[in-house]
Amino acid sequence: MDVELKEMLDDFESLKRALPDPSHQDSIIKLQRRAESLISLAQSSHARRSKVKDMSAEVIDSNPYSRLMALQRMGIVENYERIREFSVAIVGIGGVGSVAAEMLTRCGIGRLLLYDYDTVELANMNRLFFRPEQVGMTKTDAAVQTLSDINPDVVLESYTLNITTVKGFETFMESLRNKSFRPSTHNSGVDLVLSCVDNYEARMVVNQACNELSQTWMESGVSEDAVSGHIQLLIPGEAACFACAPPLVVASGVDERTLKREGVCAASLPTTMGVVAGLLVQNTLKFLLKFGQVSPYLGYNALKDYFPTMQMKPNPQCSNAACLERQKEYILAKPARDADAKAKEAEASNLTECPIHADNEWNISVIDDSEIERTDFPSSSDALPEGLVHELPSAVEFQKFPEPEEMSTSIDDLEDLRRQLDALNAN
Ligand SMILES: [Zn+2]
Repeated sequence: MDVELKEMLDDFESLKRALPDPSHQDSIIKLQRRAESLISLAQSSHARRSKVKDMSAEVIDSNPYSRLMALQRMGIVENYERIREFSVAIVGIGGVGSVAAEMLTRCGIGRLLLYDYDTVELANMNRLFFRPEQVGMTKTDAAVQTLSDINPDVVLESYTLNITTVKGFETFMESLRNKSFRPSTHNSGVDLVLSCVDNYEARMVVNQACNELSQTWMESGVSEDAVSGHIQLLIPGEAACFACAPPLVVASGVDERTLKREGVCAASLPTTMGVVAGLLVQNTLKFLLKFGQVSPYLGYNALKDYFPTMQMKPNPQCSNAACLERQKEYILAKPARDADAKAKEAEASNLTECPIHADNEWNISVIDDSEIERTDFPSSSDALPEGLVHELPSAVEFQKFPEPEEMSTSIDDLEDLRRQLDALNAN
């Protein structure tokens, strides 16, 4: 097919040259561009890899998961393969959402649900992910095209809809409730919702849906001037919801609804959006695979490279009724939670310590600090090849300085010098 398409491009070129009137060339140029995008599509479909049934830790060039499964061997993640059981919904496939979707796809997430109503424009090309040949496609379809090529193991669902409309909200809720991927889930069919939208109204809609479903979600945002951003973890009932304390309303008394002004072109940088997407997915991986500390809130100030963190409790006077219900449930479940924590603590103390890596291929052994102090081995710096000498004293010799006698000598020298100066001044 490649050869035929390339021949077609040559035909267009000769046709263009043969036309006497240059104004007729526009339509030929358009056809040429379409043929070029078909060539690149054909090339990308050739490189498509086949599905992988089980994630393997085998270290071979053809294994797409070897570097991820190594997290298990390094003792960071207990069971990496669990990632295939999880569903993550991403609302807003823009500068942050699309990059987050790609990261999760490359990590081998089980299922991704993508929501957006917008189409790809040339004005989006300052950001990562979308390509010029995808201009005009819906962002969800373009994302599915790219992501399914990168990792065909991920189950992708694309929802081209606006969640802030009545119909859109219904479909959004229905898709979150769908448990067909993993029937054992509790409240909803997804493990986490990531909000990557760019306006207050859509955030409030995600907040409403997640409070109703008691669904944990993470919010993300990048400022209009493109030099700061944040991520936030929202657990209904346990942490502040978006209506409990919308960050800007509290900080400056400004209504966020007035912020997205018509005709005002917000700035955006691929760097800031990439950083925020990275922080968001890092927190997602820690949350899902249970490693490290999951951040309740993490800000990013690009001008000062400052990353503030904080924790926000729910507001007992929150205007969102579903939030108040979740808060009540959380307080009622406290005795059960405490008992559970106690049991886990007891279980942990009963566990006997054992080496993390019983067999290690590098033959690394851990030596007690006191043993090192006792051992009187020659330092590696002593063993110089024949003919070479040290220019500086060794650490052992250096520590010998300054000897008290030598100190007194230098003080004598100083006093002598002062006497000489005094004599000069007297003259
Ligand atoms: Zn609330």
